[in-house]
Amino acid sequence: MTERRFEGIGATPTLGVGAAVWYRPTDVTDLDEPPATDAVDSAAERERFEAAQADARAELEAERESTRDRVGDDEAEVFTAHLKFLEDPQIEAGIEEALDEGLPAPHAVKQAFAGPIEQFEGMDGMMAERADDLRDIRDRLLRLLTGTERTHLGSLPEGSVVLAELLTPSDTAQLDPEAITGIATMEGGRTAHAAIIARSLGIPAVVGIGEDLDGIDENTELVVDGEAGVVVADPDEETRQRAAESTQTPVIQEPVETADGQAVEVAANLGTPAEAPPAVDQGADGVGLFRTEFLFQDRSAAPDEAEQFEAYREVCATFADGAADGDDTGGPRVVVRTLDVGGDKPIDYLDLDPAENGFLGARGIRLSLDEHADLFESQLRALLRVAATDAGAGLAVMFPLVSTVEELEAALEQVERVADDLDNEGVEYAIPELGVMVETPASTYLAEAFAERVDFLSIGTNDLTQYIQSAQRDLDRMTDYQDPLAPAVLRAIDRTVTAGHAGGAWVGMCGEMAGDPDLTELLVGLGLDELSMSAVTIPDVKTRIREVDTESAEELAASVLEADTLATVQERL
Ligand code: PEP
Ligand code: MG
Repeated sequence: MTERRFEGIGATPTLGVGAAVWYRPTDVTDLDEPPATDAVDSAAERERFEAAQADARAELEAERESTRDRVGDDEAEVFTAHLKFLEDPQIEAGIEEALDEGLPAPHAVKQAFAGPIEQFEGMDGMMAERADDLRDIRDRLLRLLTGTERTHLGSLPEGSVVLAELLTPSDTAQLDPEAITGIATMEGGRTAHAAIIARSLGIPAVVGIGEDLDGIDENTELVVDGEAGVVVADPDEETRQRAAESTQTPVIQEPVETADGQAVEVAANLGTPAEAPPAVDQGADGVGLFRTEFLFQDRSAAPDEAEQFEAYREVCATFADGAADGDDTGGPRVVVRTLDVGGDKPIDYLDLDPAENGFLGARGIRLSLDEHADLFESQLRALLRVAATDAGAGLAVMFPLVSTVEELEAALEQVERVADDLDNEGVEYAIPELGVMVETPASTYLAEAFAERVDFLSIGTNDLTQYIQSAQRDLDRMTDYQDPLAPAVLRAIDRTVTAGHAGGAWVGMCGEMAGDPDLTELLVGLGLDELSMSAVTIPDVKTRIREVDTESAEELAASVLEADTLATVQERL
């Protein structure tokens, strides 16, 4: 059999070999016509429904536990929300009514969920996502009632490569990185949050392959090359050999310098505290971006100050205990980004209107300074308190999506106000290092003014590319515009680094670009002081930094910055 290659977008730059396992949830809503109502034993159907509901409850509780153990508390919360929906009084009443009408249990469930699902579907954006939750619960009940077999994403055999149309973040969170050797999906982009979770779990992944993926049969032998963005089915001997030989780069558990002695900090991007220990294992010097949104997502209410204090403290403690200190802050630096919701990061209970809170609307710091000032305050209180603990000596706080000096000053005033409150309450606190994400075109022009007011800047190339190129980051059709090597984006990065240094701040990068080992030399040449990335790519990037000669890297950067087209940039690299 000749090998077949399926091209997509590499989401985790590692390589895995395994057998295809399709994740295709069966359409359990496709029911036969119900029998005549007088032929149905309503009492028996009621008992059947109650048994299925009890089984669904048991399943959800078990899944919550295992997600909590394997991934983290926050990812587990999605199951708590589903447990609540399972006993929603309005839906239960609908089921009762349908059973009284003489429908069998599966038909009663389908009918009772239809109205609420339609209601949520009619709403916009984040409320529409409730419809997905309800569909999920309905399908769970229907699967149990119809005895349909289920693919357990969390208990697949070792060496499975999961193939799917699309994986949601909660699907991905269920995967066991010990057993799953790869992921390949038809839809999705490199910066989608499911791809980010796959990277955190270190699972080789290729996304956005398109419908061709459908041509791969169950159990087909696959090589998932997340670096090249290719899935090879029925690999020939040579491909198999190369895959077997591709050994992992050794981990470097100490800060690295270029060949000529310039230090570059290499940090990890984290979404949950559970990702901190694996990041330490990969040799992260610290954390360059802790995305706190994951703490707030997939649950029914915001975490309070105490819960946040514990989460931030835990990450700091993991690094204080485990990582080599790569900076001068008194402990490994842990940059926690304040809540960045809106855009592609919805939070159900905040009821954000997608029309107003999209990529060009109220998101990130704009919400923290306005209608969600309460969340910003509790987050800052937790952070300032952690900064005063032994483990928190390296804590740093960063604001997302800042585009004006006024916003930055308002955020800094809020830090002062919170500090005064804690002082008055006699609560211990410390003001951590403060920084700004540079991810809007405006912020690249204001980088020097920002740098004069904070300790550091961190370039978020995912959003910066989207905004400079005017191409939404989650649209597959816009892939041609989403390359951070586009000349306009490179010039914006260059401008930011120069202006940031002129203003007296250190300048890092935490967008996905920072984790591409093929770009390490360029990024060092552009003058970045820190690179923060998914933990799996740290060994490769550290290895590359050691090989870089700063002078040649600067020459490379200068020549690339002169290029007017993406093709010329790629050629010069
Ligand atoms: C970015 O925009 O580059 C970034 C790091 O933030 P996020 O991907 O969370 O928006
Ligand atoms: Mg961003």
